[in-house]
Amino acid sequence: MTDKPTTTPGLDTTAPPPLVHGRPVEIAEGVFVIPDGRVPLVPNIGVIVGDRAALVVDAGLGPRSGAASHRIARELAGDRPLYLTLTHFHPEHGFGAQAFEGATIIYNRTQHEEFRQKRDGYLQQFRGLGDAVAEQLGGVEFVEPHVVYDGGADLDLGGKVAQLRSWGPAHSRGDQTVFLPAERVLLTGDLVENRFYPIFPYFPPYDVDVDGAHWIEVIERLQTLNAEVVVPGHGEHSGAGLLATTHEYLTLLRSEVKRLAAQGHGEGEIIAVLGPQLQASYPDWDTSEPWRIATGVQTFLAQ
Ligand SMILES: [Zn+2]
Repeated sequence: MTDKPTTTPGLDTTAPPPLVHGRPVEIAEGVFVIPDGRVPLVPNIGVIVGDRAALVVDAGLGPRSGAASHRIARELAGDRPLYLTLTHFHPEHGFGAQAFEGATIIYNRTQHEEFRQKRDGYLQQFRGLGDAVAEQLGGVEFVEPHVVYDGGADLDLGGKVAQLRSWGPAHSRGDQTVFLPAERVLLTGDLVENRFYPIFPYFPPYDVDVDGAHWIEVIERLQTLNAEVVVPGHGEHSGAGLLATTHEYLTLLRSEVKRLAAQGHGEGEIIAVLGPQLQASYPDWDTSEPWRIATGVQTFLAQ
């Protein structure tokens, strides 16, 4: 199947270019985040530096963001070997991987299959988001992983263990988290956001893998890890309250969609009712991408 999503979510054309530009912040000893600065299509990037090796989590959108992430990771890691893993295949998280020359790239199997199936369609879709995004995607080359694992993989970086775990289907089919059990730090990718609405990539017929019901279960399982610091896909890192807020939002959205559908309301009416209602419930969340609520409604209606 060739994926070519037809729904193009609107982005704020006045936003800064989607380039990794932040300076790393140390959130635990040897654990760094290059913050997204709340810039659209810039992810939070993790760099975990052990005694023997360092792990980078996500690469950014396109070769220039990948080069920025790689340069910062190299500064932090010195001459230690680098590993790169991705929370999921989406372009702003993974399409900068080509810059990590010499690094060992690790995917879970589902993520790898999803990447191969959907990368061309997503590249085309994202190029349609505007000149600034298309410019950053210029020269993208797809990079295959060196290691593909099933279920879970633990990386001993030397004095630090990183637990890579597969969770999909939720936000994507191949979602992966990275948990540092000693430091109690959890990097979630787009399973969790901070003051951004969760993203439902529901683009029928090309991509309908987002699974809202399973996503809720995944958040419940992540809560049992007792993380103290949660690094979301987008927005500031924070405490475990981010997991609770995500769970609350997803369950509220699911129950409201079910309630309104049972009353006979159609998709358009439900979106029109829930948009303002959810914005009132989360008044400090970013409202620039209302399609995130709409596709959430569509996802739960389809389930
Ligand atoms: Zn994503």
